[in-house]
Amino acid sequence: MMAQYLALKAQADGCLLFYRMGDFFELFFDDARIAAQVLDIALTSRGEHDGAPIPMCGVPVHSAESYLARLIRSGQRVAIAEQVETPDEAKARAKREGTPSSKALVARDIVRFVTAGTLTEESLLEPRRANVLAAVCDVRGTCGVAAVDVSTGRMTLEECAPEDIAAVIARLSPSETVAPEGWDQAPDQVMPRPRQDFSSDGGVERLCKVHGVATLDGFGVFGRAMTAAAGGLIAYLDHVGRGTLPLLLPPVAVGSGGTLAMDAATRASLEIVEASRGGRAGSLIDAIDRCATGAGARQLAEDLSAPLTDRAAIVDRLALVDRLHGDPLLRADVRSALRALPDIGRAIGRVVAGRGSPRDLGQLRDGLDGARRLRDHLAAQPDRPAMLDALLPDLGGHGALTDLYTRALVPSPPTERGQGGFIAEGYDAALDDLRRTSGNARRAIAALEAKYRAETGTPSLKIRHNGVLGYFIEVPARHADALMAPDSGFTHRQTMAGAVRFNSLSLHEEASRIAEAGGHALAAEESHFEELVTHAVAARENIARTAAALARIDVAASHAERAAEGGWARPEIVDEPVLRVTGGRHPVVETALAASGERFVANDCALADDDRLWLIGGPNMGGKSTFLRQNALIVLLAQSGAFVPALGAVVGLVDRLFSRVGASDQLARGRSTFMVEMVETAAILSQATERSFVILDEVGRGTSTYDGLALAWAVAEAVHSTNRCRCLFATHYHELARLADTCEALSLHHVRAREWKGDLVLLHELAEGPADRSYGLAVARLAGVPQQVVARAKAVLDKLEKGRAETGGLAAGLGDLPLFAAAAHAEEAACDTLRDRLRALDVDALSPREALEELYSLKREAGESEP
Ligand code: ATP
Repeated sequence: MMAQYLALKAQADGCLLFYRMGDFFELFFDDARIAAQVLDIALTSRGEHDGAPIPMCGVPVHSAESYLARLIRSGQRVAIAEQVETPDEAKARAKREGTPSSKALVARDIVRFVTAGTLTEESLLEPRRANVLAAVCDVRGTCGVAAVDVSTGRMTLEECAPEDIAAVIARLSPSETVAPEGWDQAPDQVMPRPRQDFSSDGGVERLCKVHGVATLDGFGVFGRAMTAAAGGLIAYLDHVGRGTLPLLLPPVAVGSGGTLAMDAATRASLEIVEASRGGRAGSLIDAIDRCATGAGARQLAEDLSAPLTDRAAIVDRLALVDRLHGDPLLRADVRSALRALPDIGRAIGRVVAGRGSPRDLGQLRDGLDGARRLRDHLAAQPDRPAMLDALLPDLGGHGALTDLYTRALVPSPPTERGQGGFIAEGYDAALDDLRRTSGNARRAIAALEAKYRAETGTPSLKIRHNGVLGYFIEVPARHADALMAPDSGFTHRQTMAGAVRFNSLSLHEEASRIAEAGGHALAAEESHFEELVTHAVAARENIARTAAALARIDVAASHAERAAEGGWARPEIVDEPVLRVTGGRHPVVETALAASGERFVANDCALADDDRLWLIGGPNMGGKSTFLRQNALIVLLAQSGAFVPALGAVVGLVDRLFSRVGASDQLARGRSTFMVEMVETAAILSQATERSFVILDEVGRGTSTYDGLALAWAVAEAVHSTNRCRCLFATHYHELARLADTCEALSLHHVRAREWKGDLVLLHELAEGPADRSYGLAVARLAGVPQQVVARAKAVLDKLEKGRAETGGLAAGLGDLPLFAAAAHAEEAACDTLRDRLRALDVDALSPREALEELYSLKREAGESEP
């Protein structure tokens, strides 16, 4: 057995091996150690290997899924080795091969690899989150990215420049990524796969084969990098499914132009679908998701991750939201109809992957039927927006399938198909007959029980059933004698403590009838199941289309509901580079404040071509970051086709959105805060266009004051004059206010605060003009920094400010660029001159007198330039 185990382990590709033994999956050696630790189950041992006990642990087959879920979540991958023959078959094989049957080992094989990106099981997936598997590769300098949600079969292909690969991956947020082995530009944490899997021609061939077509032309135009990535993806799926492919819908080419570009840093800082501390709580989606279905929530996450840049498409979505927003009754109807629907997208995914259950077929029946009813209801509504009319046909067209399933299946079919009982009565006369036979036999057995009780005069006699003996007659030990008599017609089977068990000819006959009819009935149900599955498989693309249409309607209803709840407005989308928001709010901060009974202060924003850069000052905690982010989120929501948290908004289409907010250390990745900040700033300066929207929070904070101020100054200038994008720029450096003198499209703003009886009151209100002063010390006091430390800081600050006034230091030097003509730089320049002169001296060529003169001269120069 160990030899067989080790051979399978060698094929397991580094995965944990689940080795099937009877009712358990067993793990051995290091696999057992890892699993025992992750699953918190007992580590035992069994037998010996190389003289040492073999560590072992196991999980019951019937509850394996929950253990699998925990292992996958902890980052493991698992290979499942099943028994592929019965013990009888193994014995027969041993006999043919001439080995003693006692040595016959049941053949086992790896039937599947379970990995994070290839799950289909309901219990292993999160209902509201897509589960994406991605493949990335490079074809002559162009990166290809193929992505599929295996649970629903949706597949996209795209191409990008190597420097954009991180942004694409951030958008897709895959739970597993594969790449050719040895590819040096592969993103972090990819699973290497054979290079030859990623060939472009091979990819075309695999796609054609999967979809049964001779050419991909009918699906769209795909670049070589795209098909190469698709090849790698399908090869990997083939590998993990051991030849069984999951549902794959025709690939969709994703162009880079159609969506709002955001890099990974921007996504992370805006906390769109995940909060910065991980998880959904505190993210944008968490604050706005009112979807009635998991599929709707998945579509919403996709929309928010890839907002549109096509005005007509955005307006189409908004019109549907508007219709549902304006009609609360219709909205309530739609949402309650959707809430009742099962997740048909994932059900068809399981069915096609060969892991479907009778329950999945029942879900398809109920879901498709519900979709049809929703279609009829919506089709009867007046003033239907164009998008709704386009979606309606996708909701129907499954009449034949739902009719068939309605006739064939019981109302709530089970998840297990081995026990039967899911084919409805009346669907198959022969099956009904078999069931009647076993029903009759069961009734006959009940009659036998009554008869035997009367004959033996033992009212406590029972006919019972268990897995080992089948049917048997049981009487308490003290009544056993009557049945023991040789001519009683009963044969003894088993003596228990206090009870004795018997058989009889009539009971045996009836039991055989039940067993035979039951076996035939199971076989009949099994073949019906297979037949029913083929109908769903044939309709898979239409079913997926229905699922997509339902999700789209759900998202629109969710936006409408959220807007109604929060008094949100329909944004107006225009082509000019403006951003005019009245009464804007931050959806996440507002929700958090509301939970503690506080009020959010709404603020306006008005960026336009001639006033495109707002410099925002004011105290810490004053609400600068919040204001910056809320406007970025309003753009993002508007271009996803959602209403926005404001009284009104005019959003000029944005091509790229950048957010550089707060100091986020990535020490784990070997970069300091300041380095990260500069890398991100560099990306903004090189990529932002006149159509972009940028929020910059405290650029330059991570380094010394002079360096930081200088950088902030230069970055603001470049954003204003070179990038010419719309930009909100929060800063603590009031010196930057001087920029308003030279940059005509820059204006000054601040968040208001007031000191009242020595305490700082933050008003969170945006006002025009520069910040009058900074409130750092007041905020420190507010935060509970000890009184004596604040007092000491105040003394130091007074001294610094006095010194600055006397030397005409920092602030005075700012008027005339270069920035620091003042003292600090003068000293540095003097040092440089001295150093240069010393270097230039040829000491050996000097006479003693010349040397002395030189020394005096150097001393003079150093003395004069002393600041
Ligand atoms: P820092 O300069 O320290 O980064 P900041 O000015 O960027 O501070 P924020 O982080 O935006 O300040 O806001 C601090 C807190 O103030 C928020 O967590 C929130 O509780 C509250 N706040 C911000 N804006 C508002 C608002 N418009 N209405 C009500 N409360 C607000």
